[in-house]
Amino acid sequence: MTIAFGANFAPHLTVCRYQDGAWSDVSLQSAESMTLHPASHVLHYSSSCFEGLKAYRRDDGGVHIFRLATHIRRLQNSARLLHLPLPEASLLEQMIEQVVREQLELVPEFPGSLYLRPTLIGIDENVGSAGKASSDAILYTLASPVEDYFGGNKKTLRLMVDDQNMRTTPTFGQAKTGGNYAAALRFIAHAKTEYDCDQVLFCPGGDVQETGAANFFLIRDNTLITKPLDGSILPGVTRDSLLTLGKELGYKIEERDFSVTELLESAERAECALSGTAAVLTAVGELVHNGKTYPIGDRQVGPHTRKLRHALTDIQRGNNADYQHWLHPLTQPRH
Ligand SMILES: *Cc1c(COP(=O)(O)O)cnc(C)c1O
Repeated sequence: MTIAFGANFAPHLTVCRYQDGAWSDVSLQSAESMTLHPASHVLHYSSSCFEGLKAYRRDDGGVHIFRLATHIRRLQNSARLLHLPLPEASLLEQMIEQVVREQLELVPEFPGSLYLRPTLIGIDENVGSAGKASSDAILYTLASPVEDYFGGNKKTLRLMVDDQNMRTTPTFGQAKTGGNYAAALRFIAHAKTEYDCDQVLFCPGGDVQETGAANFFLIRDNTLITKPLDGSILPGVTRDSLLTLGKELGYKIEERDFSVTELLESAERAECALSGTAAVLTAVGELVHNGKTYPIGDRQVGPHTRKLRHALTDIQRGNNADYQHWLHPLTQPRH
């Protein structure tokens, strides 16, 4: 049975509150409901940020969280950009670990995983606070058992290449915050209904950036090409992991700006893929630009995409040595 990504929640979440300048202890609560005042800052002024990371069950039975410290740093960076109360790394680590430890039996076998969604929201009850940071906040971590997001290796995606619109602002793209998705949504909805596309590749002014929720790779001539982290895109942990592994596998790495023209010119003899915690590395089969469809290679999952994806998932499932110290172990192997 496949479970739809993100709509099936573990019965418990971990929660803490920031009030009068201090964080409360972490508590375990039912994931069924949470009460918010209708004037809550987050509901009007979008003071929210989140993370998406995964706990995996290794083939030997042990459970670990992938790149926990890196996700914690990124949440702190988003919180700073949003002027939300800043949770210490130790508090975030404790609340993320606890939601998994309390529900270990819900971590599926690979390729499934327990998707974790730490979320920070401003809850001041004052609609006059448009220009004021929320002084109170709630921090919680939801857990959701998931299967493969895009059905793994089989399907390739059809992307709309949009060289007009921005996903968000040139500086706020690095924050994982609800407002960015709200700003991009109408373009994605349009691409879906009008062009039957799965996602939009945002390329404002011809600059190839990323899609609504994943980073973009152009793979050509044994080279991995992706936009550098200049603040306009989300610094993907998967992106970083693939660049590290790609280098080890002998690929040339080019973190540089590239244009829609370069992308479309090389489409036929290249591979393109999206990277993200949910997507892992998902191949793109077609690009649509100005109403014209450009096939990528033979529209199938290419050998480089497959190889890079496997290099990463082998570490996540504990099949390959963790030279990078990316795995944060929670339990030992079963004997
Ligand atoms: C979450 C996200 C990504 C992928 O980041 P990972 O850390 O690899 O999961 C890329 N782009 C956007 C806009 C995102 O929200």
